Amino acid sequence: MKIKAAVTLHVGEEFKIEEITLQEPKANEVLVKIVATGVCHTDATVRDTGMTPLPAVLGHEGAGIVEKLGDNVSGVEVGDHVLLSFASCGTCESCHTGHPAYCERFMELNMGGKMEDHTHRLHLHDQELSTFFGQSSFGTYAIVHA
Ligand SMILES: [Zn+2]
Ligand SMILES: [Zn+2]
Repeated sequence: MKIKAAVTLHVGEEFKIEEITLQEPKANEVLVKIVATGVCHTDATVRDTGMTPLPAVLGHEGAGIVEKLGDNVSGVEVGDHVLLSFASCGTCESCHTGHPAYCERFMELNMGGKMEDHTHRLHLHDQELSTFFGQSSFGTYAIVHA
């Protein structure tokens, strides 16, 4: 689907509002209509350093409404009002013991630019755009892990 997003194309540049393509939610993922997002200094830092591979859609403090479920999703329904948090693997020891902030794959899943299956959900024309913190909330819609 076509969405609008504030895209970071190059290090240090202002966010640019672009029409981009968002893929359908895959297994264990949901589509969220973003209603609001914080703008945090972490977004500015990544924009100014390229810690996440650019181009990217930043934003990691999103809130919105679930619009569509991918396969295999339980515990989340269409219409749920949700807050988006950081990505975690759900299977490592830290995740299993209730400490997903210390997930062994934290840096990869949140800063690496790709979803858990190592693919992208966001494209600007033919160019892949990095996902940030498993959400990229600087867009009108986001694909996130359930
Ligand atoms: Zn933040
Ligand atoms: Zn983990």
